[in-house]
Amino acid sequence: MLDIKITKIETPKAKPTGALGFGKYFTDHMFMMDFDEGIGWHDARIIPYGPIPMSPASSALHYGAEIFEGMKAYLTKEGKVQLFRPYENAKRLNSSAERLCLPELPVEDFVEAVTTLVNLDRDWVPTEPGTSLYVRPFMIGDDHSLGVHGVHHAIFMVILSPVGSYYKEGLNPVSILIERDDVRVAGKGGTGYTKCGGNYAASTRAGKKAELKGYSQVLWLDAVERKYIEEVGSMNVMFKINGEVVTPALVGSILPGITRKSCIQILQEEGIPVSERRITVDELLKALEDGTLEEAWGTGTAAVISPIGKFVVDGKEFVVNNGEIGKVSQHLYDEITGIQSGKIKDTRDWTLEVK
Ligand SMILES: *Cc1c(COP(=O)(O)O)cnc(C)c1O
Repeated sequence: MLDIKITKIETPKAKPTGALGFGKYFTDHMFMMDFDEGIGWHDARIIPYGPIPMSPASSALHYGAEIFEGMKAYLTKEGKVQLFRPYENAKRLNSSAERLCLPELPVEDFVEAVTTLVNLDRDWVPTEPGTSLYVRPFMIGDDHSLGVHGVHHAIFMVILSPVGSYYKEGLNPVSILIERDDVRVAGKGGTGYTKCGGNYAASTRAGKKAELKGYSQVLWLDAVERKYIEEVGSMNVMFKINGEVVTPALVGSILPGITRKSCIQILQEEGIPVSERRITVDELLKALEDGTLEEAWGTGTAAVISPIGKFVVDGKEFVVNNGEIGKVSQHLYDEITGIQSGKIKDTRDWTLEVK
């Protein structure tokens, strides 16, 4: 158990009124805790949301010592607030920490930090259908020295942001640019399987290029051979080819998404064949050409399921399922968002009530 010292805000902020968007507004409080070598984690505290003083020599600023998580708290129609698979986020943060030589955090402490903060700011969980309270836990290495060495001081924080519904008029299939030049991150042995800020910094350029051309996201290929499909934007990707769902295997360069894992479990329980394997861009193009690609979609916490209506590669466009959402994508979306919002009974012990 953490001994969390709570300092409440004196004057609570006004809640946002118009469209929430994503990550634009923050709640009244934040969680913070320090790590020092020889002491461990200490000074767990919740304080009013605001700027943090930092040394200009901090290792987070110079060497990208940063990892994060992304999860959501949902309001059920009974007025309960619940999280979706928070222990999975806790475990993944530790896997990222291990790779970046940041200190690991007991999973119970991670969950306690998140639930205590969400509970304190629970009146910030938005009520409109499809909205939620986005939870952003993150950790930085904060050594005040320009020498590159292991981490002696680190900070773990959690901030909260009420976010709008990803989809305003139903699930809209998006257009995807297949990226042949930039790669997400280095290949096997790199940081692709971690949620670290540096991966995002490296992926910005291709994302910007796709956007300028009028596409939503890029489809990333592997860094070594530029042949195998890895992810789509900052989501995992799934294809339904000839009745079978295919998704890239977790070979080290791919982020092990919790939505991905949940989709695989649901599909398997329902007897839909799922194959986690390597899939080449040529196999995808062939399936697009001969019509065996029935559906394609991205998976991730923000959108849950993002159906793909079109792929563009080397200037050629390929439409998927007439640009419409497919049956499996829609079903996975309904099932997962149903469990998250409490509309569908949680038979797998995936939700955790915040109280
Ligand atoms: C967070 C993330 C995902 C999706 O993971 P979820 O746990 O499903 O939200 C996929 N790819 C990348 C690169 C990510 O950072």
